[in-house]
Amino acid sequence: MAASLEEPDGAFVYARHGNPTVRALETAVAELEGGAGAQAAGSGMGAIASTLGALLRQGDHVVAQNRLYGGTRAFLDTLRRHWGVDVTHVAVGDPENVRAAIRPDTRLLFAETITNPTGEVADLPRLTAVAREAGVTTVVDNTFATPLLCRPIEHGADVVVHSATKYLGGHSDVLGGLAVFADDTTRRAVWERAVESGAVLDPFAAWLLLRGLQTLGVRVARQCANAQILAERLEADPRIAAVHYPGLPGHPGHGTAQRLLSGGYGGVLAFEPVGGLRAGRAFAESVRLASLAPSLGDVKTLVTHPASVSHRQLSAEQLARAGISDGLIRLSTGIEDVEDLWEDIDQALAAAQPEAAP
Ligand SMILES: *Cc1c(COP(=O)(O)O)cnc(C)c1O
Repeated sequence: MAASLEEPDGAFVYARHGNPTVRALETAVAELEGGAGAQAAGSGMGAIASTLGALLRQGDHVVAQNRLYGGTRAFLDTLRRHWGVDVTHVAVGDPENVRAAIRPDTRLLFAETITNPTGEVADLPRLTAVAREAGVTTVVDNTFATPLLCRPIEHGADVVVHSATKYLGGHSDVLGGLAVFADDTTRRAVWERAVESGAVLDPFAAWLLLRGLQTLGVRVARQCANAQILAERLEADPRIAAVHYPGLPGHPGHGTAQRLLSGGYGGVLAFEPVGGLRAGRAFAESVRLASLAPSLGDVKTLVTHPASVSHRQLSAEQLARAGISDGLIRLSTGIEDVEDLWEDIDQALAAAQPEAAP
């Protein structure tokens, strides 16, 4: 029994070390991602924290994408301030930036397949090649792409992390996270860290996530199709100043997206209504079918206004660097009928027009 407590694949003795329902989820997601194994966590941040905690030591250097999920960025900042891990943020759109940032003490490269909210797509085969040449481990956050659109391990990633709270669960009713590993050594190291820190998943949450996974294929296909149609209509609409969606030929990441993604360009798009901050706020407050909510990947369409919610702490200059104008709206498409969604967007845009102002 004691031996089982020391092994990720030991008998199920105590649930923090391993549980059959949690293991079923880990096995399913590892198979979806083409990995050797997975470690589930209580949320996406739990999976990221265990992974970074297991792989990094004091004095190590990390090269990270400059437009990371805010929670990841905050965690890296804490590692820098309190744990002696140095971090350099670079625009990973050009892998040469990553090559230039790598130093002899660089241990880890962290990137996201598709970034929030403007849909930059990381050129994973080239990024992981640069990292591998320097002996650097690559961790990829694949939350926005899901393993249906992209499987980063096939492109050379060593670890793939997910906020299962988003697409894998799919219904905004459960928190969870996963780290998937290309090799068993890393899996064991992250398992040990997760067991120590308690960043593990509750079996009932695992059961809900397994149920969510059963419909992942149909949900993501529909979410991508809806996003593509809405992005095209918004781009053609005179009430819109800009649309950011990797499925549009004019998007700077479209070429990379075409090479890297299969089956769609994701369910998240961003757009800027003419009229800036006031129009963005008015739009967000006027949607009826869509919900104003700060998550994504739900079967329901969710709208956020990053300048007043997820990115509210950023200065105007930091917002600009993150590619976020103050009127920008993020839309995470659900599985509703696309004509119903367009009707809702159309009426909210009408309410956001300058002449509609009181
Ligand atoms: C939401 C999210 C996370 C964090 O996941 P939680 O489940 O909220 O802890 C990490 N990365 C990305 C890209 C996310 O969207």
